[in-house]
Amino acid sequence: MSSRKPLTIRVLGPYGGSAPGYRITTFLIDGETALDAGALTESLPLAAQRRIRRVVLTHAHFDHIASLPFLIENLYGRSRPLEVVAPAPVLLALRRHVFNDVTWPDFTRLPSRTRPTLVYRQAHPGRAVRCGDATFLPIPVDHLVPAYGYLVVKPGRAVLFSGDTRPTRRIWEVARRTRDLKAIFLEVSFSDTQAEVARDSCHLTPRQLPGEIAKAPSRAPVFLYHMKPPSLPRIRREVRSLGEPRLRLLDSERSFRF
Ligand SMILES: [Zn+2]
Ligand SMILES: [Zn+2]
Repeated sequence: MSSRKPLTIRVLGPYGGSAPGYRITTFLIDGETALDAGALTESLPLAAQRRIRRVVLTHAHFDHIASLPFLIENLYGRSRPLEVVAPAPVLLALRRHVFNDVTWPDFTRLPSRTRPTLVYRQAHPGRAVRCGDATFLPIPVDHLVPAYGYLVVKPGRAVLFSGDTRPTRRIWEVARRTRDLKAIFLEVSFSDTQAEVARDSCHLTPRQLPGEIAKAPSRAPVFLYHMKPPSLPRIRREVRSLGEPRLRLLDSERSFRF
């Protein structure tokens, strides 16, 4: 039974920025679905890149799509196109600003319109979209641009990803009503000493985390990701001083099975 297969999550990139040893936001789910594409091509050998069927995007900011142009180039000529799955504003940003025949080729027409390397698949907020054995439910969050968290569900298991956001509401409503929630992946980008930058760029700092997770009391562990590398040492200290047992900093590449 396919529904009995575990939900596997490989954290290929836990960071919100790039430096040697710090890969940008990328999760690989069941080996075939990427959630965000900050660092797919530098994390995975070519054979593993070829197994990726789709990339689900939280939003179109560069740190979440950086490796997508190179992934598509590596998949060029594959019989099955790569699906890029996201709500309409994210797909529109990619069409207009990335795969526009200026920044990068329009791979929805290459090698040909009938055999493209890339297809866009529109998802709708609040409506789950099937991705392999799992479903992905897009949930609007609060960021500088249209952005979405995702509830990833398999029978008897669910995992929530916040995407980039400032203090927000709807993902926590979803968390509250989700039974079998096994883990929450929550962004924290800047240190409390950078609260102004965090506010202006619509991100979270450690001080805001207890208020966020209190919106959905649960036993599910909360794995923090998207730390900006220069801020990491301070974030680590600040998170530790919160003394909040649910919060765990995801500061290396890790794998999960649920
Ligand atoms: Zn962003
Ligand atoms: Zn980001």
